[in-house]
Amino acid sequence: MLDVVQIAVLNDNYVYLAHDAASGETAVIDPAVSEPVLAEAARRGWTITQILNTHWHPDHVGGNAAIVAATGARVTGPKGEAERIPEISRSVGDGDTVTVGASTARVFDVGGHTLGHIAYAFDADDVLFPGDTLFALGCGRLFEGTPEQMSASLATLMALPDSTRVYCAHEYTQSNARFAVTVEPSNAALSARVVDIDARRAKGLPTVPSTIGEERATNPFVRAGSVAEFARRRAAKDNFRG
Ligand code: ZN
Ligand code: FE
Repeated sequence: MLDVVQIAVLNDNYVYLAHDAASGETAVIDPAVSEPVLAEAARRGWTITQILNTHWHPDHVGGNAAIVAATGARVTGPKGEAERIPEISRSVGDGDTVTVGASTARVFDVGGHTLGHIAYAFDADDVLFPGDTLFALGCGRLFEGTPEQMSASLATLMALPDSTRVYCAHEYTQSNARFAVTVEPSNAALSARVVDIDARRAKGLPTVPSTIGEERATNPFVRAGSVAEFARRRAAKDNFRG
């Protein structure tokens, strides 16, 4: 089983360590920076053997070079963005698998936020690393892709089991919640979730991970009934000042 450790860095980024105790392998997912990641691994007595990147944005790959220099970790990243992933040693896309010790992830193409964006789903561990594609109560902005592409990407991720834990790359939940309640003011599951989110943030606690089941019940982007509705909601959120 993978042991997943969350490291909060920069303003609102989450970097993750995924450790397989049996083999001693440790992967880091989307290292925005290197120092707190290397420090957390050292504190636990873990050696980083792999970096898994979801897309090329600097707040997801910024720590690659220094972590590789410190550990010799090999870097796996999206095929479609390989030239923009520092130190990449393996390019992957839809249908490929990545192993961390005894755990295997399926790779999915989930373009939209960026064109080549990928996600890693460790099925047996019930763990998803969706990068900036799916957030708690939200989804990534469409910097490069189309609404068609992003809604298809979200549908791909929503086909995972409800129990899947969603380790997204940002703590954007409270802002997403303020928008979500304007879309579905009478969704009782959403209202209850927002109470919980506000309580967690008031104590300085993370709201991530959520689960696919929670997103299915409350996330306005995955709940859009059509691509057109998704596109309207995404545009409304881009202009939302809540
Ligand atoms: Zn991004
Ligand atoms: Fe990001």
